[in-house]
Amino acid sequence: MTEEDNDLGSKPDTPCWEWRGATDGRGYGKRWVGGKSPVKVTRLLWEQVNGPIPAGMVVMHRCDNTLCVRLDHLRLGTRSDNSRDMVLKGRQRKTYTKADACRHGHAYPDNAYYDSKGWAHCRVCDAARHRAARAAR
Ligand SMILES: [Zn+2]
Ligand SMILES: [Zn+2]
Repeated sequence: MTEEDNDLGSKPDTPCWEWRGATDGRGYGKRWVGGKSPVKVTRLLWEQVNGPIPAGMVVMHRCDNTLCVRLDHLRLGTRSDNSRDMVLKGRQRKTYTKADACRHGHAYPDNAYYDSKGWAHCRVCDAARHRAARAAR
């Protein structure tokens, strides 16, 4: 575990600053620079303050708000970081066998079982659900 990893789940406790300009239709703020293809606002902003972003790195939102342009809510990560981030935060509804944790962060494959379609399910979460269902009766 690095410090980066620990950072993944923690949300900033300051309010977001939402971008009010153009977006790319997928919830990301965009700006057109010199007639070229649009650039993510967060990327522009980051580079203004911190200098060029290294190849292969992307600007990620610690706050999960893709329209947020507040610098202290942003951090640099790799693309694979980003998808792991999404799994951890539960943005992906189904977790396919390749995932390394359920959406509550229980590590796969240790806690996983697989159904006939190859979807991974979390034993820990299932057990918790069953307990809750029994308790409700
Ligand atoms: Zn934010
Ligand atoms: Zn789980």
